[in-house]
Amino acid sequence: MAANPPPLAHAAPMTGRTQPSRTEILDHPRLHVIDDSLTRIILGGVRDGRTGTQQFATLTSHLATRLLWQACAELPLRSASVPGFAGDPITVDEADERVAGVAILRAGLLFAPAFRALFPSAPLRQIGLRRDEELLEPTQYTSNLPQASEWTDHVLVLEPMLATGGSAATAIRLIREHHSGRVTLLSLIAAPLGVATVLDADPHVQLIVSALDDGLNDQGYIVPGLGDAGDRLFGTD
Ligand code: URA
Repeated sequence: MAANPPPLAHAAPMTGRTQPSRTEILDHPRLHVIDDSLTRIILGGVRDGRTGTQQFATLTSHLATRLLWQACAELPLRSASVPGFAGDPITVDEADERVAGVAILRAGLLFAPAFRALFPSAPLRQIGLRRDEELLEPTQYTSNLPQASEWTDHVLVLEPMLATGGSAATAIRLIREHHSGRVTLLSLIAAPLGVATVLDADPHVQLIVSALDDGLNDQGYIVPGLGDAGDRLFGTD
């Protein structure tokens, strides 16, 4: 008698899993979907499968800037005195809140140039989470999060593709071990399931995304999405 064939590696992990619809999630008060013409045009470029690595990095960096800018549009301000162009003291605004970035590896690295350009003196940390392709469960393999509280006021979690939300929820749980202040998660593209998972994981987290897509396919990829962001950023076939 013939032996049973071995189970398929990476069989369809999302098969049979219920997902919320886009319309169920869209109006949640802690979700902000950026929706302007330039963002839509740039998203079209990153979704286009013909876009090469270099251009992908450039376009996603523009989206990263847009997301970071939105996240800090209402940063608390304080007044400071600086010498103006003629040497006389003038009053200017400066940030009254310390911002830090936490990139979820590997694709979260695409936020690094934009983050460093906008916040040159802010800490940028990393959490490495590997996604099990069969169960879609995240496993931590590295982290350099500070182990002390008061290291920052506002953590920006940088997760380009919010799919099941498992990695983002794990990252937020790790961040919360030493941070009770503001947490905002930024994603280029989110699936409704990922948004719901993150909102459920933390009662205070805010989400800012540049697109809320339809859902996840059987393999756990966001559709229409852009494919694997890390592979496209680093030119992996
Ligand atoms: N991670 C990605 O890079 N893309 C997806 O569609 C889902 C998870």
